[in-house]
Amino acid sequence: MKVLKFGGTSVGTPQRMKDVAKLINDGEKKIVVLSAMSGTTNTLVEISDYFYKKNVDGANEIINQLANKYRKHVEELYATDEFKTLTKDFLREKFEYLHAFSKDMFTLYEERMVLAQGEILSTNMVTNYLKEQGVNVVLLDALEFMRTDKNSEPDPVYIRKHLKEQIEANPNADIYITQGFICRNAYGEIDNLQRGGSDYTASLIGAAILADEIQIWTDIDGMHNNDPRFVDHTEPVRQLHFEEAAELAYFGAKILHPTCVQPAKYAGIPVRLKNTMDPQAPGTTISNETEHGKIKAVAAKDNITAIKIKSSRMLLAHGFLRKVFEIFEQYQTSIDMISTSEVGVSMSIDNTKHLNDILNELKKYGTVTVDNDMCIICVVGDLTWDNVGFETLATEAMKNIPVRMISYGGSNYNISFLVKGEDKTRALQALTDTLFKK
Ligand code: ADP
Ligand code: ASP
Ligand code: MG
Repeated sequence: MKVLKFGGTSVGTPQRMKDVAKLINDGEKKIVVLSAMSGTTNTLVEISDYFYKKNVDGANEIINQLANKYRKHVEELYATDEFKTLTKDFLREKFEYLHAFSKDMFTLYEERMVLAQGEILSTNMVTNYLKEQGVNVVLLDALEFMRTDKNSEPDPVYIRKHLKEQIEANPNADIYITQGFICRNAYGEIDNLQRGGSDYTASLIGAAILADEIQIWTDIDGMHNNDPRFVDHTEPVRQLHFEEAAELAYFGAKILHPTCVQPAKYAGIPVRLKNTMDPQAPGTTISNETEHGKIKAVAAKDNITAIKIKSSRMLLAHGFLRKVFEIFEQYQTSIDMISTSEVGVSMSIDNTKHLNDILNELKKYGTVTVDNDMCIICVVGDLTWDNVGFETLATEAMKNIPVRMISYGGSNYNISFLVKGEDKTRALQALTDTLFKK
């Protein structure tokens, strides 16, 4: 069985929902994971913000606006009064549920319940539409099987067991629909897999049922060789190794949530990125295969802070790096890039929550300098060290851009540059012009 995930824009309007319904109704049994309609999760975040600020009128106004929008969707989506009424009743109940949060204290716990509604709305709407079309569809409640443990990591054993039970309880369905993003945590509370986490849901489900394939359907023809939001003339990459995809997702290629690669990789299940607006387009296949001698793509990660610690005592001092890393560990801050010399070490981080504490500790061991608003530019491809010339190509492309750090050799798949945030677009464009010119 395949798992197909459709993102926010793919279910963003009633027409798009109809297109998705047509696409998935091809006689093959499958599990379909849906995001909230695009914009809905952001609106739910805004509603929560008003509740946090105890501005009940503000929250209620936005809830009413959202409810009106959804009521219009219902008129457009369904042909029969039966399904219009059925869905309107369901929506009324959900919007009343949202209004009711004005009566309680509002904490993170309530916010997660609010944020979960986007996927609950979209999956019910699409399921009802498929039922109206006479399709044999069953809605599986993700809150019944998608679960995280005490470390907020997905619990694969629980997920496999409970998902299996749900599927076995409905053995004759042709299409199973379920919600992306939402889950319960170790305490049974409603929680989520972080923004953009529907990709992760699809991958976890794929691994749980040992799917033939996991398909991530979005609004673009697969992974492009550079970020199309900033660079002209980007092109789809047809094949990526899991590691290459993981690097690109982690370093900013928004098409894929960074956590989504791992479950598929461990289960050895290929992931395909497909375009809902152009279903015939080949998209990108992510698998265990490496294409030799090719630079595949470039991505960028913003809001990076570089920290340098220089110490004359570092000379020949074993244990120095351990001390430095322990400080980052103590403040639960992970390091993205690192580069060392005999007298100092530079590191980059993206989580600055504990920056001041970290700097205070580091100052005990040497002279510390910080650069804010930096950006990691990550070049991904077959960059094994005995493959001559590829790192030179990447550095050559960056020849007019001030580079703060370079990291190469950490994996066989990437070389990363740390540059100023303001140089990001220029650097990305220079890399495209040099690496992918025809
Ligand atoms: P969805 O709502 O379907 O999850 P996202 O907005 O999360 O979709 O991801 C798709 C978007 O990712 C594209 O519209 C594109 O703007 C952006 N994107 C960023 N980098 C890349 C890349 N390298 N290749 C393709 N898309 C990218
Ligand atoms: N709806 C959620 C979000 O907007 C999850 C997702 O779309 O992947 O973040
Ligand atoms: Mg996404």
